[in-house]
Amino acid sequence: MSEVIIIRPHHGMCFQFYEGKGYSEEFTDHMGKVIHMLEKEPDTKLKISIREDAVCGNCPNNAEGSCKSRDKVIRYDKAVLDICGIQNDAELSYRDFLELVSRKIIKTGKRKDVCGDCEWDYICGKNDGF
Ligand code: SF4
Repeated sequence: MSEVIIIRPHHGMCFQFYEGKGYSEEFTDHMGKVIHMLEKEPDTKLKISIREDAVCGNCPNNAEGSCKSRDKVIRYDKAVLDICGIQNDAELSYRDFLELVSRKIIKTGKRKDVCGDCEWDYICGKNDGF
């Protein structure tokens, strides 16, 4: 796949704990499809950007291209960039991005510091090993 896919930084964490639950059935189906496609082609180049991305499209919180939880998710996004040591709009493969997020945030037990107030925290919290 030569296309660069836009992914917002904190979705690099959501991807790792996805279990088919989310804001609506349409949204979780769509997110599942994005993950499936990227898992099949992990060398796909991602642009890690703080903006609405390939996942946000079918989200009920996406009001005409702007997330209704904008302030909160931008806080998550900035924290992920900061801890991972990458700039907004960095380009790296899906494989490398997930490995970086896993190594710097999840395995160091920092996940809760980033997104502990997310309504889905109970899903990630039971699987993050901390
Ligand atoms: S629109 Fe907001 S809540 Fe929905 S997937 Fe995007 S960042 Fe998450």
